[in-house]
Amino acid sequence: MKITFISAEKTPIAKVGGLADVITGLSREMRRHNHHLEIILPRYSHLDTTHIDGLEIYLHELMVPWFSGLVPCQIWKGTVWGQPCYFIDPNQALNYFTRGRTYGESDDDLRFTFFSKASLEFIHQSGKTPDILHCHDWQTALVPVLLYELYQHKGFTRTRVCLTIHNFKHQGITNEQVLIGTGLNRTDYFFNTDRLLDNYNPQVLNLLKGGIVYSNFITTVSPKHAWEAKEEDQGFGLKPTLRLYHMKYGGVLNGLDYEYWNPNKDPLIPHHYTAATVEQKSKNKRYLQQKCSLSPSNQPLVAFIGRLDPQKGLDLIQYAIPRILELGAQCILLGNSHDPAINREFEQLKKGFVGNQNCHLELNFDEALAHLIYAGSDFMLVPSRFEPCGLTQLIALRYGSVPIVRSVGGLADTICDIADIRQAFHNRNGFCFEPYSAKELDETLHRAIHYYMDQPNSFLQLRQNGMRQDFSWKEPAQHYLNIYHHIKA
Ligand code: ADP
Repeated sequence: MKITFISAEKTPIAKVGGLADVITGLSREMRRHNHHLEIILPRYSHLDTTHIDGLEIYLHELMVPWFSGLVPCQIWKGTVWGQPCYFIDPNQALNYFTRGRTYGESDDDLRFTFFSKASLEFIHQSGKTPDILHCHDWQTALVPVLLYELYQHKGFTRTRVCLTIHNFKHQGITNEQVLIGTGLNRTDYFFNTDRLLDNYNPQVLNLLKGGIVYSNFITTVSPKHAWEAKEEDQGFGLKPTLRLYHMKYGGVLNGLDYEYWNPNKDPLIPHHYTAATVEQKSKNKRYLQQKCSLSPSNQPLVAFIGRLDPQKGLDLIQYAIPRILELGAQCILLGNSHDPAINREFEQLKKGFVGNQNCHLELNFDEALAHLIYAGSDFMLVPSRFEPCGLTQLIALRYGSVPIVRSVGGLADTICDIADIRQAFHNRNGFCFEPYSAKELDETLHRAIHYYMDQPNSFLQLRQNGMRQDFSWKEPAQHYLNIYHHIKA
């Protein structure tokens, strides 16, 4: 099968969050099944090109219709970890991808609308005939709209679209500019509740909604979250649309790239280990403690890694930090935000722990430090308000760091509490709480930290349980292949 991913992110060259990891992990697994897979990305000026082999211009001038003119684009080609990637570069004409960051610009809607349009134009003009276009999130949700409204008539009669929604919170709220820019035009037709009109604001268009309406299949990244978005209040206004299109909607749990996230081979950690040699983790812990100026103690080490977004339970995280220390553990946080106000809040919090040898807050994006933290920590805290899938808990399991999570979305699908007697012991892999409250979190932190201190042998088994589970891409990739076969012409 010929499959093309169209995405705004990809590990390790343009990563903001889990989407980037999914693109790389899923595409690597697809290649193992010998499918022909290509990836189209923007050529951001901040791409980490050190990981791109053989980067060269593939097409010198691709003319992309945009508003009333034509935008000349260069198409670059290179391979990233063996994966062929094409990069859309309108550099000369538009400055859409030269902003130094992936998101957070006031014209993000137009930037990624252009990317969607240029991707289809590239596929069309280069004579490619993919069976499946796999789009991701609002940034490329206009692709199926463009395909069925404009490009199908140019010969794309056999191409089908799967759209994966990694986060319902971001939907690409926009206006008629995207219609005029792309040549979709016909504002009356698209400002219609059956098409792109937002379900709750009749003044705006909603790109993600359009993606749901026009795609052949829509997935989100865990079965529990698929249900929460359709039946509860986690679809951020898209619940009626998901209910309407429930026949072509489902949840596929994300996998983890077990080649990249492998504590027995990871070049970013000093001491390698497996479930059988997990005691080696303590050497990584010492290294991490030293790097973060923590005392080299045997106290349990609780970590948090993630975007500092309200989604991640920021008030609970702020509550947890001093509480973890009171309970006799150490704490490391690695995170940053696009929101300057949130960054300021955490800078302020950090000031309270200067010189504290049990607490380190690193307000940055730091891939290498993240690996060290997974390898050196004993617990990974994930107290999210909502979590479509969550990769941090899966990476933590793989590295023998026991997750402490709020049971929501993908966290509920992957983490089973140590006290859950409905499950065999070997399936239990963490500590869970459900109501979003400081009291519940407090009780769970207390349980976890005391389990570590009072029952070291059982804690060791708990670590090993997580390390021995299989959350690789093997099974999820098969689910996606089944979906592709289901929708294929
Ligand atoms: P989301 O997609 O909501 O950001 P996920 O849990 O699905 O959350 O994925 C987060 C990914 O980003 C993980 O690979 C995590 O290690 C990484 N990550 C998040 N914040 C940072 C950071 N500040 N530094 C390094 N890696 C980070």
